[in-house]
Amino acid sequence: MDHIKQGWFSELSTLWPGQAMSLEVDEVLFHEKSKYQDVLVFKGKTYGIVLVLDGVIQCTSRDEFSYQEMITHLPLNCHPNPKKVLVIGGGDGGVVREVVKHPSVESVTMCEIDEKVVEVSKKFLPHMACGFESPKLDLYIGDGFEFMGKHKGEFDVIITDSSDPVGPACSLFEKSYYQLMKGALKPGGIVCTQGECLWLHMDLIKKMQDFCKSVYPTVDYAYTTIPTYPSGQIGFVLCSNSPDISFKEPLRKFSEAEIKQLGLRYYNVEIHKAAFVLPQFAKEALSSSN
Ligand code: SAM
Repeated sequence: MDHIKQGWFSELSTLWPGQAMSLEVDEVLFHEKSKYQDVLVFKGKTYGIVLVLDGVIQCTSRDEFSYQEMITHLPLNCHPNPKKVLVIGGGDGGVVREVVKHPSVESVTMCEIDEKVVEVSKKFLPHMACGFESPKLDLYIGDGFEFMGKHKGEFDVIITDSSDPVGPACSLFEKSYYQLMKGALKPGGIVCTQGECLWLHMDLIKKMQDFCKSVYPTVDYAYTTIPTYPSGQIGFVLCSNSPDISFKEPLRKFSEAEIKQLGLRYYNVEIHKAAFVLPQFAKEALSSSN
């Protein structure tokens, strides 16, 4: 197991050269190559259960809520009445767990390429995979890019919870995928995608933002903090086919009582608004013309 040495897992990747997040391992629970990727699950000494795909941390039970809550409630709370939601990727079940908390949501469709990820998440990450138990969910195993091309004008919100742009997720970071998502949205629809890290991937984020602006009238970028993603930060690209949406201002504002009732630990109205405020280096990079 290349990534575990002397009891420590290290996340080495050419996507973040010269740095690596390391977590002390208590016990390896699962390790197998699926049809698409290397799947590893271990129990960390301090971060709970950790899911790793192709050597890259996907989630840990200690901090996953930051990512799942933000990628879900940012778009859903900006839509006036989200009823039909599509999730691409998200094989750990965490995004679906959050989507079905919204009372207006009538159905969730999910398309995950790797059934092994779903299987191990059900076994080792039940606090996330509880999303799979929802009667509102239709789960498809297949490629998200291909799935998108077959659906037109169907969804109020599309969330792409993908791994990084290497291996099976590459196509989910292309302009053509954003064009297909636009076609799959209903009028007034919103997409929210895993948008990588400001500290590491500014060129990719800028490229994505530029092509998104050529496809959608409304585009913005938000981010969350999370210790076990590279450099402790990960972003979200939000786009809408409506020119009238301001993502910074949620239409639905959860009260403190709702936040408690929904079991939210990261998302609230203030963090929703703050998530779009960029540090100066990012503001300059993303506002510069090509
Ligand atoms: N939040 C995580 C992150 O940013 O690292 C992503 C978590 S989720 C486990 C990512 C999922 O996307 C994986 O289960 C992977 O199998 C799935 N995936 C990758 N490429 C895909 C594709 N083309 N279609 C559908 N699912 C895909």
